[in-house]
Amino acid sequence: MTMTAHNILEKLESVLTPFEAAAYLPLIEKINRLKKEKNAVILVHNYQTPEIYHGIADFTGDSLGLSRQAANLDCERIVFCGVHFMAETAKLLNPSTKVLIPDLDAGCSLSESITVEDVRALKAEHPGVPVVCYVNTTAAIKAESDICCTSGNAARIVKSLGVDRVIFIPDEYLGKNVARETGVKAITHPGRCMVHEQFTVEDIKNYREEFPGIEVVAHPECSPAVVQAADYAGSTAGMVDHIARSGAHHIMLVTECSMSDNVRSLFPQKDFRVPCILCPHMKKITLEKVLKSLEEDVYEIVLPKETADKARLAVERMLALS
Ligand code: SF4
Repeated sequence: MTMTAHNILEKLESVLTPFEAAAYLPLIEKINRLKKEKNAVILVHNYQTPEIYHGIADFTGDSLGLSRQAANLDCERIVFCGVHFMAETAKLLNPSTKVLIPDLDAGCSLSESITVEDVRALKAEHPGVPVVCYVNTTAAIKAESDICCTSGNAARIVKSLGVDRVIFIPDEYLGKNVARETGVKAITHPGRCMVHEQFTVEDIKNYREEFPGIEVVAHPECSPAVVQAADYAGSTAGMVDHIARSGAHHIMLVTECSMSDNVRSLFPQKDFRVPCILCPHMKKITLEKVLKSLEEDVYEIVLPKETADKARLAVERMLALS
């Protein structure tokens, strides 16, 4: 077994059974060989399963981190292990590189909650009010927006506009959480993350009763009530930084279940309590589909030039402020 394979196995065994880890290894090695031959880079979102996250990633991270990586890559192909809007964002920022997503059906309840017509209607109703779109949107929605944001920089982006009102799309909860934090009124759209909307204040209360001193770390796509009941709310990268600084032994992670598994492997000394809710879209990506993606060059992200040019502006404005 090569040294790299040994390292991968060690990481996998920190979150999977030895049997599961060993079963994934041949496919992982095949993918890692092929990605070198094809001059491909594999970007992996934090919500991907451990065998993808620890086995084949060249870079891991949240939407903002991966967008930044995509912009700077010098390779022939990017294989994006995440959901469709993320692969589109990578294509926007690195238009000359072929961007592949292993399953075209890997969508997102947030990005699918809003149409171009919805955004145009909001703009017509609130003329002159800037449109801030969460990165969890299609390129067509970004093209209708003034600036993009992620959960990690949303408050900073909204404040930087120096206005008293913004149209914040499509995540109603994130919009309300940002409005509370910044004091800027957010005109929202009823989009929700189908994972984060399921967590309740009652869940947090129960964990606090069972594990006194537990630190509750939540994603800001959760409802404002859940965010207020948590000790910390932030992007996936922000959560990792916060846990690294925290002195608490018990941590409750109020976010997607695989993120919790992947974070757990970074802090083996801490005790994670996780109400496990999986994102069905993220889980559409599998090792078998990544292999097919590399072998057959599927499925390529193609964007109309006019849409891409406008959408890129919204993303680049965000990156300039981040
Ligand atoms: S976890 Fe929520 S926001 Fe993220 S991809 Fe899944 S549905 Fe979309």
